[in-house]
Amino acid sequence: MTVDETNRSFKIVIIGGGLAGLATAHSLARAQREGRVFTSLTVTVYEQRSEESSFVKYPMHIAPDARSALQNILSPDSYADLVSRSDYGITHGGITILTPQLTRLYASQKYEGEQPQYVSRGVLKKVLEEGVDLVKGRRVVRVREVEEKVEVVFEEGGSELADFVIGADGVGSIVRSQLFPTHSQFPLLPHAVVQFKLATPLSRLSSLPDKHGNNLILGTQSSSFQIVPLAGTALPTMTPGAALNLSGQGPFAEPDNSIKDIHTALEDPKSGYIFVRMIVPSFTGWEDLTEGAWIEKAIKLLKDDVADHQIVTAFEEDIIPGTVAAWGIVSSSVGNSMPCREGRLVLIGDAMHAMPPTGGAGGATAFKDAEGLVNTLLSSTELGGTDGPLHTLLPTFYEESTARSEQYLKDALHRLEVSNQSGFQAWIHRGLLKGMDWYYPLSHWVASL
Ligand SMILES: Cc1cc2nc3c(=O)[nH]c(=O)nc-3n(C[C@H](O)[C@H](O)[C@H](O)COP(=O)(O)OP(=O)(O)OC[C@H]3O[C@@H](n4cnc5c(N)ncnc54)[C@H](O)[C@@H]3O)c2cc1C
Repeated sequence: MTVDETNRSFKIVIIGGGLAGLATAHSLARAQREGRVFTSLTVTVYEQRSEESSFVKYPMHIAPDARSALQNILSPDSYADLVSRSDYGITHGGITILTPQLTRLYASQKYEGEQPQYVSRGVLKKVLEEGVDLVKGRRVVRVREVEEKVEVVFEEGGSELADFVIGADGVGSIVRSQLFPTHSQFPLLPHAVVQFKLATPLSRLSSLPDKHGNNLILGTQSSSFQIVPLAGTALPTMTPGAALNLSGQGPFAEPDNSIKDIHTALEDPKSGYIFVRMIVPSFTGWEDLTEGAWIEKAIKLLKDDVADHQIVTAFEEDIIPGTVAAWGIVSSSVGNSMPCREGRLVLIGDAMHAMPPTGGAGGATAFKDAEGLVNTLLSSTELGGTDGPLHTLLPTFYEESTARSEQYLKDALHRLEVSNQSGFQAWIHRGLLKGMDWYYPLSHWVASL
């Protein structure tokens, strides 16, 4: 069958040019190029930002499910491009727990060999954008079904009619709040994430046990640190004094001229630096702290939690100003998925199920959703497939997506919980977990049934 034979046209609008939206658009564009779409299909992605957020500066952990979905979404050439441009020298995705009594937890979770384990978010987005009709700087404020179509209304005026709309607009999704008003906001967990980079040559951290993966310190001050050494040329070091100078300029001010060269070097994903993510209990006013104040706080927490002199010194001397960023953690709650919905609007990624930033669950959800939705679209009669009209196929997509993301969510929340307890609760929980090498294999086995 050819496009001429079906003589149909179909317009898809994707709201949100994040990972889920771009992956969906990229995959559809590839299917068109490869002659797998038998309809005159147009796909447009509307992204509210005209510039990338500072988030693209951070490496992203790729869980096995995210990797397998990406291998299907990207062509072999694009995938190879992603791997070679994101070569951090991280050879396994497991976590090495530095807190001695917990070394066995996560030990069975090392997934070696397959690459990439980490990617540069900036590179990933660039690769996904290839071949995609992406309109930046257009914010959608409303969607509504009008007869056989969906109207998408833009903030700056104007609207567009589509046959099908995909809400990939992240945790604060406008599409979700209109479709499911009772789920308009996901709960804020009592934790905050703080991320930054250290310009520490690996040779200086001889005591860091895992040079090719994730080193996790579970703190006694209800905090956890992940230290991930990235390969490459070592950057010039910078003292926190420079960062403290920035503290008068408001939270997470842009770097001043004196550290611009470091930031330029950091744009190369192969630059050598150490990526640190800490999860702390949130407290009143955490979001108003300046970058300098976060650095002081990180160093204090680390000193309280870690005896390792080398690691403390690296934190004290090598934090790269302008790379510190903090977020509150919003998450779906287990067993509270939104109802399945037929029709011309679907939600994917964080818009549908927000994941905490542990275990790579967010990316896995976004890419698996994109992969599943594209397969559903391609098999529908609207796009020339033979499995039936789209509205009869979507419930299956929703069911699979919900079951999968519930499992990811449980896993991610468990990791978060284990790494962020204190006092008696932590003592009991960690005590119980000490012998639990079987927990993750078992939970994955149950999930695969
Ligand atoms: C601190 C932190 C660290 C993380 N680390 C990892 C990790 O290492 N590995 C991993 O797998 N996951 C990680 N995650 C999770 C992962 O980033 C998300 O799950 C993933 O980005 C979700 O993709 P998405 O496309 O659904 O949403 P997003 O990536 O958030 O994209 C949504 C897009 O929609 C746009 N948008 C929103 N509203 C509108 C509108 N009204 N109109 C137009 N555009 C709009 C936004 O600007 C945004 O670009 C992390 C998350 C956080 C917060």
